[in-house]
Amino acid sequence: MIEANDGPVVTIEGKTVIMAGSNNYLGLTTHPKVKEAAMNAVMKYGSGNSGSRYLNGTLDLHVQLEERLAKFVGKEAALIFSTGYQTNQGVIATLVQKGDYVISDKENHASIVVGTLIVKGGGGELLRFKHNDMDDLERLLSKTPKHAGKLIVVDGVFSMSGDIVDLPRLVDIAEHYNARIMVDDAHGLGVLGKGGRGTASYFGLDDKVDLIMGTFSKSFASLGGFVAGERKVIEYIKHHSQALIFSASPTPAAVAAVLAALEIIEQEPERIQRLHYNSEKIRQGLQSLGFNVISGKTAIVPVIIGDDMKTFIFWKELFDAGVFVNAVISPAVPQGMQLIRTSFMATHEESHLDQILDAFSKVGRKLGVIH
Ligand code: PMP
Repeated sequence: MIEANDGPVVTIEGKTVIMAGSNNYLGLTTHPKVKEAAMNAVMKYGSGNSGSRYLNGTLDLHVQLEERLAKFVGKEAALIFSTGYQTNQGVIATLVQKGDYVISDKENHASIVVGTLIVKGGGGELLRFKHNDMDDLERLLSKTPKHAGKLIVVDGVFSMSGDIVDLPRLVDIAEHYNARIMVDDAHGLGVLGKGGRGTASYFGLDDKVDLIMGTFSKSFASLGGFVAGERKVIEYIKHHSQALIFSASPTPAAVAAVLAALEIIEQEPERIQRLHYNSEKIRQGLQSLGFNVISGKTAIVPVIIGDDMKTFIFWKELFDAGVFVNAVISPAVPQGMQLIRTSFMATHEESHLDQILDAFSKVGRKLGVIH
């Protein structure tokens, strides 16, 4: 339970610890301009919208944010939802209909899984391929009818392992089998690509991804989600998605915070560089201490411990040593891959990073994870 939050330093049950387990990648939740924008929005519009986008719940702020997001990711239009979870669930369930196929990576986020299960319940076909295994994806697609509608859904950056999707191969396969692509870029936006434009931009494949989905609960320092793509597709979702129509619209403070965060992301690209410096310092530091670190290029640095109980004990010892991380056990990860998930912010300072490495070193030796 967090009692005070300064970004990289938080107070949990009376104890001050370094936060190395947040998705606040750019550290913007405590940025004065973001906080001010949220407060001003409350003063102007009140604390909530008391209705759905469909009825009384659309503010000029929602429309402004949709236009800004579409421009940011280079798509014609965007649509915002009240959470990222609702976005995935709502978009997939709306677009993939009876007789169509949704093809999903086995390690996709739970909100994608829920969307695909709704598709299945409604008479659509659900195919799941091995994690980031493009041969398996191709094998499944090769068995689908040539003219059926097909939507491949993947995370851009997988939230537990920090793996980046093999988008270049995926795009080739999708083109060959005439399938559309949706990328959930919750952990890629603000982190990867030109100016933080995400996984598609990182690979230079912006035009090849049909739908880019994002959440506001990571780099955008707020709460909510969005999908961006061709205008006619976005309009279709807007008028058919139950998750949008039957849920109240994002609050004024939430939307204004994203608008302010987006402006900072566009104006201060050095934040992204700092985020990469911080993540890389820890990645290399933990590797040279002898930990089994999953290599990567994102702000997620997972350390494999390989056992449920040992992972929990490691977590508790780190907490006692003043560092908060996330313990990830099976079934969230396969047996033997139980891990400590660390994630970094642009606002971690050298002293925070040194303290994190120091705590890992002490706990790792104590528990015999490193020697
Ligand atoms: N997609 C991914 C990859 C996520 O990691 C998350 C949240 N952790 C979501 C979607 C859901 O986003 P939200 O928390 O905004 O509902």
